[in-house]
Amino acid sequence: MSTNHLHDNLGPGLLEEVATGVFSYVQPDGTWFINNTGFIVGESGVISIDTTSTERRNRAYIDAIASVTSNPVTLLVNTHHHADHTHGNYLFPEATIISHSSCRNVMLATGIPDYRAAFPSVEWGSLEFRAPDVTFEGTTQIHLDDLTVDLFDLGYVAHTDGDVLVWLPDRGVLFTGDLIFHGGTPFALFGSVQGTLDALQVIGNKGAEVVVPGHGPAFSGAQIQEVLDSQRAYLEFVQETATEGIRFGRTPVEQALVTQLGEFEDLTDSERLAGNLHVAYRENSDADYEWVGFDTAIADMIVFNGGKLPHCVA
Ligand SMILES: [Zn+2]
Repeated sequence: MSTNHLHDNLGPGLLEEVATGVFSYVQPDGTWFINNTGFIVGESGVISIDTTSTERRNRAYIDAIASVTSNPVTLLVNTHHHADHTHGNYLFPEATIISHSSCRNVMLATGIPDYRAAFPSVEWGSLEFRAPDVTFEGTTQIHLDDLTVDLFDLGYVAHTDGDVLVWLPDRGVLFTGDLIFHGGTPFALFGSVQGTLDALQVIGNKGAEVVVPGHGPAFSGAQIQEVLDSQRAYLEFVQETATEGIRFGRTPVEQALVTQLGEFEDLTDSERLAGNLHVAYRENSDADYEWVGFDTAIADMIVFNGGKLPHCVA
């Protein structure tokens, strides 16, 4: 029996120096709990942007950092509270962890979430909870030697309540966290469909040369507009689908089941439509809709998926 299926099918995390001293760590295939991280190497310390999901994936990420520098990670930014971005916090004991205050609040309220019902096959390892040490709202700067790193929030709920973007103005690199799923289905169940749409505008206005999303490959140059347009098209499709469902008096899952995904069919984790629709219904002023809670929305994703649990190979 294989004890390490991490690299068997999907390949290892891909380390790339996207600008001087700035690395992206992109984990194929970007599906459930297989997220991206990144790090910035300074003369005596390292800033990491996010961690990853399972203990094994986190240790592989730490090995990737060690392949570039022996300096310790002294600062760690959590872009949002989700498990795939924060579970590894405890493996960076020398780091001061910084996040949005709402991100920390959600983490303290939920601890290490129990995903065994929807994701029974994942071997999480022996995880320990560690919350951020420093929080902010609005903007703040962190400094590594002479490099300034801007952290900023959006001022509204988007992928989650408390999303933080990481912008390196001197390097032209923007880390967006899960405001972008490149090649995957955007996921707004824990946030806002409209907020995620608005965030795409903010990302586009930044004038980045390279964008590292929360899931899927990094992208640059002319591809940036292309990726933003495709994410926007999906989120608008979710809103239009909700409008149709509300008009016909269907519940979100009833509407999902009669919807053709069309051009969005090839995005990974397409069952997210059923969860996203709950949020789009909640945000539609014409809807007579009462929020059902996350568990019901996730159960609807499984119904939409033909009764199959989400495909997860983390
Ligand atoms: Zn997320």
